[in-house]
Amino acid sequence: MQAEQEHPIELLPFFANGTLEAEEQARVATHLSACGACRDELAFLQALHAGIRAAESPAPIGETGWRRLQSALRKPARARRWLPWALAASLAVVMVQGVLLFRHTDEAAYQPAGQVHAGRLLQVRFRPQATESAIRALLQSLPAQIVSGPGALGVYRIRLAPEADPEAALAILRRRQDLIEHAARD
Ligand SMILES: [Zn+2]
Repeated sequence: MQAEQEHPIELLPFFANGTLEAEEQARVATHLSACGACRDELAFLQALHAGIRAAESPAPIGETGWRRLQSALRKPARARRWLPWALAASLAVVMVQGVLLFRHTDEAAYQPAGQVHAGRLLQVRFRPQATESAIRALLQSLPAQIVSGPGALGVYRIRLAPEADPEAALAILRRRQDLIEHAARD
């Protein structure tokens, strides 16, 4: 298969997330119009990309997103055989996010829909001099984890674990003025 050498495999992940230069974008698009194997691969990558974006969202992912992610991961071995490194790395991200998604599902099972995250999301802005290890220790003590950020103003959104009391957590954060500039309910 002589054409196989010319498949722009390593560019497809970037084509899928729209970060190619215009010239490369056009070259890949031309190839895709003539190559079913690369179109299959692109469909796979787009499903992955959608899964990653959904997983990054602070809101519960919902049934549809989860099924889409699962079907992306179940894609036949043929499509994975030539996984480039970049894709292997993003697959690893999806696996990790997949674990988070399972947790969303568990939480949702025990609480009425719509109340899953009620009061459990907080906005936090860390002081510039706060170290990663100090922040990690503080979050573990609540316990809470970062679900998004930093936003334009340097604000992170953190989600409290089900056992954490939101009022108490907020009080702890506000006492730690050595690490925290601002903490509020989301
Ligand atoms: Zn191709």
